[in-house]
Amino acid sequence: MAGKGRGMTGGRPAQPRDAPVLLLVDDDPRTRGFVEGELRKRYGADYQVTGAGSAQEALRLLAALRDDGHQVALVLADYRIAGTTGTELLGRVREFDRTAKRVLLIDWADRAPEPIVQAIGLGRIDAYVVRPTTVPDEPFHRAVTEMLEELARARPPWFQVVRVVGESWSARSHEIRDLLSRNVIPSGFYPADSDEGRALLDQVGAATAAPPVIILFNGSVLENPSNIEIAEALGIRTRPGSGRYDLAVIGAGPAGLAAAVYGASEGLSTMVLEPEAIGGQAGTSSRIRNYLGFPNGVSGEDLAVRAYTQAWNFGAQYVYGSPATGLRAEGADRVVTLADGSEARSRAVVIATGMSYRRLGIPSLEALTGIGVFYGAATAEAMAMRDREVFVVGGANSAGQAAVHLAGYAARVTMLVRGPSLADSMSEYLVTQIAGTANIAVRHGVEVVGGTGTGRLESLTIRDRMSGATETVPAAALFVLIGAEPRTQWLPGGIVRDRWGYVVTGTELLSGGRPPAGWALERPPMLLESSLPGVFAAGDIRRGSVKRVASAVGEGSIAIRLVHDYLRGG
Ligand SMILES: Cc1cc2nc3c(=O)[nH]c(=O)nc-3n(C[C@H](O)[C@H](O)[C@H](O)COP(=O)(O)OP(=O)(O)OC[C@H]3O[C@@H](n4cnc5c(N)ncnc54)[C@H](O)[C@@H]3O)c2cc1C
Repeated sequence: MAGKGRGMTGGRPAQPRDAPVLLLVDDDPRTRGFVEGELRKRYGADYQVTGAGSAQEALRLLAALRDDGHQVALVLADYRIAGTTGTELLGRVREFDRTAKRVLLIDWADRAPEPIVQAIGLGRIDAYVVRPTTVPDEPFHRAVTEMLEELARARPPWFQVVRVVGESWSARSHEIRDLLSRNVIPSGFYPADSDEGRALLDQVGAATAAPPVIILFNGSVLENPSNIEIAEALGIRTRPGSGRYDLAVIGAGPAGLAAAVYGASEGLSTMVLEPEAIGGQAGTSSRIRNYLGFPNGVSGEDLAVRAYTQAWNFGAQYVYGSPATGLRAEGADRVVTLADGSEARSRAVVIATGMSYRRLGIPSLEALTGIGVFYGAATAEAMAMRDREVFVVGGANSAGQAAVHLAGYAARVTMLVRGPSLADSMSEYLVTQIAGTANIAVRHGVEVVGGTGTGRLESLTIRDRMSGATETVPAAALFVLIGAEPRTQWLPGGIVRDRWGYVVTGTELLSGGRPPAGWALERPPMLLESSLPGVFAAGDIRRGSVKRVASAVGEGSIAIRLVHDYLRGG
């Protein structure tokens, strides 16, 4: 197959020789022929479509493609294959190609039985799709196209808006690449000590420049620039306008983006300030599976770009680069100060600066985030953990709750706790519950130091903190609950926060029915309103909020309704 050239083969249009492969695995020649034909008709110009009649043939083909250095874009496997299952086969695809998308082909009657749900949760397959039945079958093609689009986004683009020439292991080079990728700016990286990197530097007359060197699509060259310099060179606004906005949204995570969409679409002149990347925490998630309307999940990056574009289409103005460092009231105006000294003046503010989960910071495990390594509550993934070996890192209530919840599904839950006891950090009722749950084991005095997996988590390395001895254990999932911090340090003391730093809003601000000191209005604070009138908090930053994408989006949109009430003098 890899050797086929252009021209006609067996009456079919020839397929491009070096194009990525779409592999269909089905042991029924009749149905395989039909689906293969459908794939070839739609994708044959850009992909090599090929079929395999058994799991063994598919594995042989995948090995040959890997050995030829050929890219596999998509493997579609029938749910039922003689001698194995489509799920088992797809679970092995990443041994041959680390980025190939894996889609299970099912019949209508098979819709989402438990093994499929479990396979998605464990990252063994990316999606399932109902076998095409009509011609053309657009829902089938939409599922295939979505997978191919996701793949194209993850692979180096043909057109690079930005080319970065830098040292491979420099933290600054990594930071620039990370920010470009999270802000979805097509870019390429060229190691400064590679032939390509040197040639590029020569070409733009920057052979002696200090890396990293940024080369833009329009020929501009920046030597070791700051993030703001890169943004400015790309024509991105980095300072607020000098006039007064109706609404300033601080933070462009899900809550901020929702506030921007609703604010701008409802006629408010809206500014959104973001110092890092659109999408916030959600933007770092490889697949969000519990957001309404995306049955196969959606990458955080995709969701963020969609929301960003939507807000932009309604006229929201983005300001990128400097974080907010202060907020004050000047009469009816609310003034946000930025780290670069500039100010944004507005009639109302939605604070949506979210929070950050403490991360393990272990590169091998960071690479498996979302595919076996999970940050935060375990509810969404619990079903997929049925009969699996699951680990929870952390010794506080959130870790205890996750362990108890997961124990209802997993074969065994092992809690990995650094300290000598749970009693110091966890509520007694949870300690008792854990002790009384047969399939929860608690290991004290240990920490996770590494992990492995091809396409998903497969093993963890655990170290005994006293002896230093390490051991490697098989693991299907690791839930990390080692704390989170709201990003509220920049807020003035006048905005009431709880002892963990979350912004207190609405009736929670009342004490004995009375508003907090300094509250100058007759009415009490509105839902989501902070102790400074006209300043609202939405999403993870708010005390009592549900730490979810959907709830952040919900709060961001509700905040706009309250902003209208406030601006009308409510
Ligand atoms: C790895 C990972 C995976 C997740 N997966 C899921 C999932 O599958 N499903 C789900 O429902 N939830 C998931 N979550 C939780 C979800 O992402 C969050 O609940 C959600 O992103 C909260 O949105 P937010 O807008 O309130 O805050 P954030 O997403 O935290 O966004 C806050 C934004 O504010 C910006 N900011 C911070 N400080 C400042 C400042 N001083 N000035 C200006 N801007 C600032 C930040 O750069 C950031 O962009 C996941 C979280 C993580 C970390």
